[in-house]
Amino acid sequence: MDQDPISRLVQELSKLPGIGPKSAQRITYYLLRTPSEQAGLLADAIREVKQKISLCSICFNVTDVDPCSMCRGDRRDRTTICVVEQPQDVLAIDHTGSYHGLYHVLHGAISPTEGVGAGDVRIRELTNRLQDGTVREVILATNTNLEGEQTALYLNHVLSPLGVKVTRLARGLPFGTELEYADDTTLTRALEGRQQL
Ligand SMILES: [Zn+2]
Repeated sequence: MDQDPISRLVQELSKLPGIGPKSAQRITYYLLRTPSEQAGLLADAIREVKQKISLCSICFNVTDVDPCSMCRGDRRDRTTICVVEQPQDVLAIDHTGSYHGLYHVLHGAISPTEGVGAGDVRIRELTNRLQDGTVREVILATNTNLEGEQTALYLNHVLSPLGVKVTRLARGLPFGTELEYADDTTLTRALEGRQQL
C-alpha cells in the first residue's frame, strides 16, 4: 500500500524521541519549504551516521573507528571504568571534565518487569575487561531510577568478587534522574562523592 510522501515523512518523524505528531507535522512542512540541497544534507547526515558509526568492541560506545578513541587514548586513566546505560551518558560525564578514566556502555538496564535480564545488557563484556587486573575501580553510573538501581545492585554482586573496588555515584542526583539530563555541577559532585557499595 503506497502512502503519500507527506504522511510517510510525518509518520517516520513522529517515531523519534520527543517528537509528537504535531511537531512531526511542523518539521515536515518546514522541510517542504526548505531548498532541496539543504534537506538533502539532513538525509545524507542520517545515512552517513548509520553507515559509519558502529559500537566500539571494547567499551560499546558509538564510534567511527574501532577501538574508539577513548579506549585507544594513552592519556586516559586505564585503572578506572565508569559504567553507564547509554552512549549519551558518556557524553554527559565526559562533558564535566572531571572524569578521565575509561567507560563501559551497557546499552540498557536490568528490568524484570520489561523482561530485560542481565544477559540482555553488556555485563559479560564488562567482566571480561576486568580479567587482566588493570582496572582497580568500577564506578556505577547507571540512572538513579528503579532499573538503574537494580542494575547497580546486580553489578556490585557480580563485580565485587573479582577484586575490584565498586563505587556508586553519590546521592546528589535526585531519584529518577536520567544522567544525560543532569548538569555538569551535579554530575561532578556525584562523581567526586561516589561511595563504595
Ligand atoms: Zn571504546
